[in-house]
Amino acid sequence: MTTLTTTSGTVTLRDHTVPIGLYIDGGWLPVESTFDVVNPATGDVIAQVADGGATDALAALDAAAAAQDSWRAVPPRERANLFHRAHALLLERADAIAEVMTLESGKPLAEARGEFQLSADFFLWYAEQVAHIHGTYAEGSRGGYRVITTHQPVGPSLLITPWNFPLLMIARKAGAALGAGCTVVVKSAKETPLTGAQFVKVLHDAGFPPGVVNLIHTTHSADVSSTVMADPRLRKVSFTGSTGVGSTLLKQAAPGIVNASMELGGDGPFVVLDDADVELAAQQAILNKFRNAGQACVAANRIIVHSAVAEEFTRRFVELTRQLRVGDGFDDAVDVGPIISAKQRDGVASLVAELSAIDSELLTGGSPIDRDGYFFEPTVFTVNDRDNAVCNKELFAPIATIYTVDSTAEAIRVANDTSYGLAAYVFTRDLSRAIAVSERLDSGMVGINRGIMADPAASFGGVKSSGLGREGGHHAIDEFLEPKYLAITVD
Ligand code: NAD
Repeated sequence: MTTLTTTSGTVTLRDHTVPIGLYIDGGWLPVESTFDVVNPATGDVIAQVADGGATDALAALDAAAAAQDSWRAVPPRERANLFHRAHALLLERADAIAEVMTLESGKPLAEARGEFQLSADFFLWYAEQVAHIHGTYAEGSRGGYRVITTHQPVGPSLLITPWNFPLLMIARKAGAALGAGCTVVVKSAKETPLTGAQFVKVLHDAGFPPGVVNLIHTTHSADVSSTVMADPRLRKVSFTGSTGVGSTLLKQAAPGIVNASMELGGDGPFVVLDDADVELAAQQAILNKFRNAGQACVAANRIIVHSAVAEEFTRRFVELTRQLRVGDGFDDAVDVGPIISAKQRDGVASLVAELSAIDSELLTGGSPIDRDGYFFEPTVFTVNDRDNAVCNKELFAPIATIYTVDSTAEAIRVANDTSYGLAAYVFTRDLSRAIAVSERLDSGMVGINRGIMADPAASFGGVKSSGLGREGGHHAIDEFLEPKYLAITVD
């Protein structure tokens, strides 16, 4: 923690002014204690951001609770108009938001722009949904009355987001919650607070009323969230992050029966069957695996290839991996940026050591890159030993592991042999086979002949230890609504 010498409450990055304070009850608080935000491509401190504590989090919840009744009473069209205004402002600030995202997350600027566009699309999707939340009307089953089913917002919600998609995660959660009429306390990740701050500034400038949106940055996540979770005014937690923290939050939600949505870790199988278009599969596997330097919950964790095409696929995949250019995300020629932190980069090196110690072969990469920042070579292993614990660990790293199988049935068995169930992928030229295999994969989402599939119209989420609930599609706003019925006597 350091003490900030300026009281301006903002930092200027590449000519963009970004707030560094906590945002509570419609205002940016004066900054007292701070923590450093580091550019992972250089290791340089780029900003010092307000370090909130449990007291600040309670103040944010006070504001959210106080604004809840008036926010839910805002007519849908008026709420939708606010969303449209925010969407237009977001688009105006596209360059600033993408550049700050690259600075603090390290992801290549083209990827940051892609994430920006997807986030704006999600926000627009919600804007279009807000005025179309309907109920139902039915006759009582034995006559004499009618049943009207309506919805009400769950109530003040805590939204906790990770660093790997610093805009998408906040826009996706906040859009759904606010659209449903919930007020929110957003807790961003300490590695990437500035992107979320820009997003909240957009909502402020668009005219979202005080208390409806509140933002906390903190290095004391456990304290902040356990304090808010224990407060009976909180009615919902929506979390994206690791399965371990998700499980802790579910325990904290249990005593007060707090509604919970969880987007957690993954161990994605990427299945290439014997009749696959091998070139397409290799190209899509590269995109899927090395986007965000492998730090994505939906990244293929195990590439499972039929023996009939394993040699051809592996040769091409390694060739394409070796062509990837690693470096600073502001360099247009770069495909893969840095790992988020020195600690995480050292974790990647440990995973390489663990994989090297089992029955496997390192085909390319395997080492940190000796330069400023936290870079690691795109790495590929073939692995023969499927039973080692490291084979089902979420790698979350630029490490691809290839497993060979001899039949479709074996591919499905290996794919499902994990406690996770987020995203899976299947490559085949036979559509009916693709559907049959997809139906048997224990996952919330399946990409068929494609490695990238997030979309505002799709219900994103996982099964098993990968989570509860869905974000996006028609289900997203429902996650923040409670159905309620009225039974009315009709003679
Ligand atoms: P993480 O669980 O360490 O952190 C996620 C968020 O939780 C951060 O804001 C962090 O500050 C906060 N946090 C940490 N400890 C906490 C605690 N005790 N109580 C409350 N909050 C706490 O995860 P991460 O390292 O930031 O992100 C990587 C993980 O997120 C991976 O497992 C990845 O698969 C998962 N993820 C899942 C999705 C999805 O949609 N399913 C998307 C992105 C990332």
